[in-house]
Amino acid sequence: MMTLPLVLRGDVRPFIIIGAGRVAERKVMTLVQAGADVTVIAPQATATIHRLADEGRIGLQQRQAGEAEEFARGSLVVLASNNAVLNQALAESARQQGCLVCRTDATADNDFIFPAVVDRSPLLVSISTSGASPALTRHVRQRLEAFLPQDYGRLANFAEQLRERVKNLLPAPERAAFWRRWFNGRAPELILARQAERAESETDACLDGRNNNGEVWLVGAGPGDPDLLTFRALRLIQSADVVYYDRLVGAAIMDLIDPAAERYYVGKQKSDHSVPQDDINQLLVTSARAGKRVLRLKGGDPFIFGRGGEEIEQLADHEIPFQVVPGITAASGCAAYAGIPLTHRDHAQSVRFVTGHLKNGSCELPWEELVHPGQTLVIYMGLSGLPHICARLIAAGMPADTPVALVEKGTLPDQRVHVKTLATMPDYVADTDIQAPTLTIVGTVVTLHERLSWR
Ligand code: SAH
Repeated sequence: MMTLPLVLRGDVRPFIIIGAGRVAERKVMTLVQAGADVTVIAPQATATIHRLADEGRIGLQQRQAGEAEEFARGSLVVLASNNAVLNQALAESARQQGCLVCRTDATADNDFIFPAVVDRSPLLVSISTSGASPALTRHVRQRLEAFLPQDYGRLANFAEQLRERVKNLLPAPERAAFWRRWFNGRAPELILARQAERAESETDACLDGRNNNGEVWLVGAGPGDPDLLTFRALRLIQSADVVYYDRLVGAAIMDLIDPAAERYYVGKQKSDHSVPQDDINQLLVTSARAGKRVLRLKGGDPFIFGRGGEEIEQLADHEIPFQVVPGITAASGCAAYAGIPLTHRDHAQSVRFVTGHLKNGSCELPWEELVHPGQTLVIYMGLSGLPHICARLIAAGMPADTPVALVEKGTLPDQRVHVKTLATMPDYVADTDIQAPTLTIVGTVVTLHERLSWR
């Protein structure tokens, strides 16, 4: 069946609803919200329908509708009684009287339907599968709910107010270009970030063509599974002009970037710092100065072993606007996907994140502090240093049979979890082919993995 989505003003045609049960009630609620003129005809009605009638928001005729019911010409008639014979007869007579019909009991016989709606008033997104699958309609609606920020209504209101100014300031041929620039510019993002003043000045700059200041977004991409991105990270990923990304940002996440955006790999391989940190900091400044919207995309969270602080220091010094978007850090992602709670009432009351990065073959950590009964230890960047770390922890007094989990490629489809002890892990690592990235979790919480890991 071919259908045509149209948006109908709620208040121009009367709606007649035959039936006043639960199904009718849902239609009535939708119509009332749209400001429609609604009359319900049924011998009995739900409490909500009675309430709406008592409040004067709808008309209610408590009687059985007859087959010879008269409808005002051009009405929209919703047949929601539980009597199919009556619905059929009323559908025919309503059409003869020039009305459009929606039957809730025989959807193939509809002149119009009620689509599912994502409501960000005044923005409304309606979804229909032309009657093919109400379940798919609901599914798509849920997805759109997640992808349209709640504040889109505010964005729509802002755009509505801006229309008049645009009309007055710009000649007609320039308006479309303005809106394209504006919607892809910074102002909508600032409105969503509730920075109204900056949004206003951005809009002013966009209107008078001064809008050539860049901006940097330092975004955490999470540990690998693209489903672990935040909504804001996704929006920024999709609207950047230029992207500087790390090795830990996986292909599935890179696929979300606009194909037209420039992208540069600035990641580090172990002992091969392909782009020195100072150069990265400088690149961000230079690109933003060129008026670009720059995405600095990092694995995990930018402020946990991500050198995010250094990058924004430079931006702050150069007065370049920036935002930092947190990501799920490897410790949280790996712990959840490996079924190892980092704290647990019976095991650990604190958790400590340390870096096991080796400098000249050893790593300097406050070993005594790390040996603590109720504490889980999470070691980032530690695979090559792992034998050294295990030995130092034992030397500092940690029991040699303390369980250790090595989470390989955490949250990714080929994640593996290797569970050993401080004493046995070094030999195991030496004999096993293990791929980076890996995260090490030390402590008795690791014993929970067997029971709590996903099947
Ligand atoms: N900012 C990142 C950490 C960067 S340091 C974060 O918050 O997660 C890089 C280290 O993070 C890696 O050496 C590894 O120890 C850890 N790591 C990152 N992603 C990982 C993953 N998917 N699985 C296991 N470890 C990971």
